Amino acid sequence: MEQKPLVSPELEPDLLRLSSEAAPACIEFLRDLVTIPSPSRGERLACERVQREMERLGYEDVHIDAMGNVLGRLGSGPRTLAFDAHIDTVGISAPSKWKFDPFRGVLSGGVLFGRGASDQKGGLAAIVHGIAILTRTGVPDDFTIWVTATVNGEDCVGLAWQYLIHDEGIHPEVVVIGMPSHLGVCRGQRGRMEVELTALGVAVHGSQPDRGSNAIYSMAPIALGIARLHGELETEHPLLGRGSVAVTGITSRSPSLTAVPDECTIYIDRRVTIGETKEQALTQMAELPEVQAAGAEPKLLHYEQPTWRGLTYPTEKFFPAWVTPEGTPAVAAALSTAAHVLGREPRIHRSNFSSNGCVTAGMFGIPTVGFGPADEIHSHTVTDQIPLVQLQPAMAFYALFPEIYRQQG
Ligand SMILES: [Zn+2]
Repeated sequence: MEQKPLVSPELEPDLLRLSSEAAPACIEFLRDLVTIPSPSRGERLACERVQREMERLGYEDVHIDAMGNVLGRLGSGPRTLAFDAHIDTVGISAPSKWKFDPFRGVLSGGVLFGRGASDQKGGLAAIVHGIAILTRTGVPDDFTIWVTATVNGEDCVGLAWQYLIHDEGIHPEVVVIGMPSHLGVCRGQRGRMEVELTALGVAVHGSQPDRGSNAIYSMAPIALGIARLHGELETEHPLLGRGSVAVTGITSRSPSLTAVPDECTIYIDRRVTIGETKEQALTQMAELPEVQAAGAEPKLLHYEQPTWRGLTYPTEKFFPAWVTPEGTPAVAAALSTAAHVLGREPRIHRSNFSSNGCVTAGMFGIPTVGFGPADEIHSHTVTDQIPLVQLQPAMAFYALFPEIYRQQG
């Protein structure tokens, strides 16, 4: 791949040197973040830690908004770029399965272990310290740069960006997300939706099941029908592949464990690819013969949990797939920036996850790219980790991107 020279050839070595110098402080900050548990809706202490770091590093306008997101700004030009990572993490389901305490920030062999190390505290630390380099080299002319540490990314992906765009009035022309891309460039992800499906029965005494109708038995073939549907999904996108569908939870209701249940509900995680709408996805489920036989109806779930600041911001749990086309200035700049920083042609990261890009790009059409340290295979696992050696190139990427993007536009 041909690398375009920078307008100011002295800038690049400068940024690489400054990012190396800033790496130890970035590592310390990241360790701190990992030691502060920040489950979705419980991010307060971590947010306050990010706020302090931004203030210390010289960000302007540092504040926590009414939803609980932390924002810091550099520059005040008419063109806005945003660098985002979510600050919340998933929880710990089996503490005994962790080799290292998930909240101690254990370092071993150049790798930092702990919950959220990969998703997305590593990216967040690198963004906060990477963009801070611009306080020394200068923000490219015409640009305002927002760094956002966003909440509720795990339990309602992109909710924070619905708020930032609608209520905080932030309208970036590009969003860069610090996702765990293993220093690859991500320009699209599948979207997702959460669905529930309830089968009804008739509760009777457990000693005489024939007199009633067992809702769990009605649900059993539906669950298997969903499993079959997964193999039958046809819509395919060249970059994102096919959607997927999986039953991810089940509950039932009965007057007691000595009674036949009158209600059984399954929860379904549906990943959608480009070209699949929520209506289509719901219809596919509704038309399964097993679902028809039970008279059940798939319903899209809604999210209306208060954030740690107490703000409730209801939304339906549908988050569209997104792609930022190859050749657009955002993607060209991301590829070029990564090539400069890595000294090689970057890998295109094919993410299995969703991210806030489902809202910035999927809902609002804002060109979005992902780039960050750590590998998503460790995210949400008991081996959650980040190789510290990836922090410096990630910091350099964030610091260099605005200038290279400016040259593209
Ligand atoms: Zn996650």
